[in-house]
Amino acid sequence: MSLITVERKILEKNDEIANLNREKFRFKEMFTMNLVSSPGSGKTSLIEQSINVLKHKLKIGVIEGDVQTNLDAQRIDALGVPVVQIVTNGSCHLDAMLVRDAFQKLIDLDLNLLFIENVGNLVCPAAYDLGEEMKVVIISTTEGDDKPLKYPAIFHNSKALVINKIDLLPHVNCNVDAISKNAYSINSELKIFETSCTTQEGISEWCEYLLSMVK
Ligand code: MG
Ligand code: ZN
Repeated sequence: MSLITVERKILEKNDEIANLNREKFRFKEMFTMNLVSSPGSGKTSLIEQSINVLKHKLKIGVIEGDVQTNLDAQRIDALGVPVVQIVTNGSCHLDAMLVRDAFQKLIDLDLNLLFIENVGNLVCPAAYDLGEEMKVVIISTTEGDDKPLKYPAIFHNSKALVINKIDLLPHVNCNVDAISKNAYSINSELKIFETSCTTQEGISEWCEYLLSMVK
């Protein structure tokens, strides 16, 4: 078998399991979000802020994907929210099988909203359906305006873009309008949010959106 055939077979198998995951999530009436970004853009911080605002309105759970350590899961656990850590031992993305196995530990909890924090990487997470209802791509103001053009697949496959760390705008060479313009050129349907997990700016708009998706 050629390498391309092997890769296609892996993705076909993944999609099969992802569809089963999605059926299970929908049957449970749970809205599932797959959060994708480069390392350090603020995925865990955004989840923490969302939990702080919404924990009395929704039953939230989290699956944390990391290459090593359970440090992010500890942060979520400290908020009293059920969390399962997936350590990929070097693999740079989550796949539907890992999520299926992790979800077994949350299946009896009647969650309304499940966040899946992917491994920090803008490349392969775009290709791996986990069974989520939507992908969210996060980029921070410390990254380049040209990220959407360099990594178009994840911007194309996401329903929402969160531009995070806007509190740093006075200190960094970042043009938020250019990020939005580049992102829209890839995906004109994207819903774009501007947030700071430090000052909480934009967090209430983001949480309103989450509530409207879950309802
Ligand atoms: Mg994280
Ligand atoms: Zn990967």
